[in-house]
Amino acid sequence: MAEKHFKYIILGGGVAAGYAAREFSKHGLQPGELALISKEAVAPYERPALSKAYLFPEGTARLPGFHTCVGSGGERLLPEWYTEKGIELVLSTEIVKADLFSKSLTSAAGIIFKFDNLIIATGSTVIRLTDFGVKGADAKNIFYLREIDDADKLVEAIKAKKNGKAVVVGGGYIGLELSAALKINNLDVCMVYPEPWCMPRLFTADIAKFYEGYYTNKGIQIIKGTVAVGFGSNDNGEVKEVQLKDGRVLDADIVVVGVGGRPLTTLFKGQVQEEKGGIKTDAFFKTNVPDVYAVGDVATFPMKLYGDIRRVEHVDHARKSAEQAVKAIKASEEGKSIEEYDYLPYFYSRSFDLSWQFYGDNVGDAVVFGDNDPASSSHKFGSYWIKDGKVVGAFLESGTPEENKAIAKVARVQPVAESLDQLSKEGLGFASKI
Ligand code: FAD
Repeated sequence: MAEKHFKYIILGGGVAAGYAAREFSKHGLQPGELALISKEAVAPYERPALSKAYLFPEGTARLPGFHTCVGSGGERLLPEWYTEKGIELVLSTEIVKADLFSKSLTSAAGIIFKFDNLIIATGSTVIRLTDFGVKGADAKNIFYLREIDDADKLVEAIKAKKNGKAVVVGGGYIGLELSAALKINNLDVCMVYPEPWCMPRLFTADIAKFYEGYYTNKGIQIIKGTVAVGFGSNDNGEVKEVQLKDGRVLDADIVVVGVGGRPLTTLFKGQVQEEKGGIKTDAFFKTNVPDVYAVGDVATFPMKLYGDIRRVEHVDHARKSAEQAVKAIKASEEGKSIEEYDYLPYFYSRSFDLSWQFYGDNVGDAVVFGDNDPASSSHKFGSYWIKDGKVVGAFLESGTPEENKAIAKVARVQPVAESLDQLSKEGLGFASKI
């Protein structure tokens, strides 16, 4: 059996992997020291593009346009970059076995990769309706979106089902971004989700009211408070209808399901400490196993700002955690220490001509400010969250870069606010004076 040895291995080829490779290179790498192993066929890229410009009929994003690290304004790492740096880019290679104590990974083809230091960056996988045995959920043209292959299949179906009907199952990030993308492609779109409003884990009812109104005005039908319980298909096995729990039946040529993800930790079960569904790390993304680090979606790490531990499935954290882990590895080699990770949660999304940013923690009481009427032309509104008299979270739709910086600062500084009323009246003015 073929065996290879590397000083450093990054397992995964997503966002965190790309940023980790760049950080290693910044610190100086010897050729052959680092391998990046990914089951995807392409070099690391900015995954958020897949639910946005990748699906647009115009201004379409395609590789190599969005390889990491362009998403944060950095250099685009083309496959040649890895070659130039002497980094072994091992693509289309799935690791099926990991033995952290003997420091070896085994690929599906039986190749053994030995490491001195490992960064686990396996990310998440989608939750499928077939996992719950939903009837007919294995029909053709029912799509999920995680990797570029999934996006390519969806693009083909959008072309094949021109002007057809699409049902989007789920009202989270994927549901909202995909509904918009399908609508822009001229499909007749219906969204279905069980919650009383979209993005309930982050949005308050007042925030959601704007997006639901905006989407409705764009011609997207929204059905709330029920779930898909079955799918009917035609003689070719292609989905034709979505059966809802409340008895309604929706016609569908394409179904996109976005009902959440699950961190890919199975390879390491029983070998590494887990918490909150992820691999437990310290503030340097070090696991309890010597020389093994975990970053991005799979890591459950100390959130210094809030004094608890969390797992974060967002691109900004994937980038920053990867950089922190590499800095920590390099520092420990030099007998130095670095600052603990002190993350300020930052989430964003874009759809149609909308774009929002959120910073901090969405706990306590919330208040909206600005104009959240979906019919008005401004689209400029936001929300603050207050806990124990302090502003701990801030959300802004259609903010300028300076305004987004201001709400980020509020969430970091956590200023005292007299009342929700004051915040509602002062709106962005409150953030700007911090
Ligand atoms: P990933 O980027 O998922 O990378 C994991 C990699 O590991 C993949 O290449 C995978 O193939 C590989 N892998 C896994 N297991 C194995 C194995 N056994 N062997 C070999 N390779 C393996 N976040 C935001 O903040 N804003 C957004 O707008 C946004 N949009 C998104 C849109 C989509 C469609 C998706 C799917 C996610 C979006 N996210 C967004 C979330 C963000 O992309 C993730 O949080 C981020 O990609 C996590 O980075 P990661 O490196 O941990 O995992």
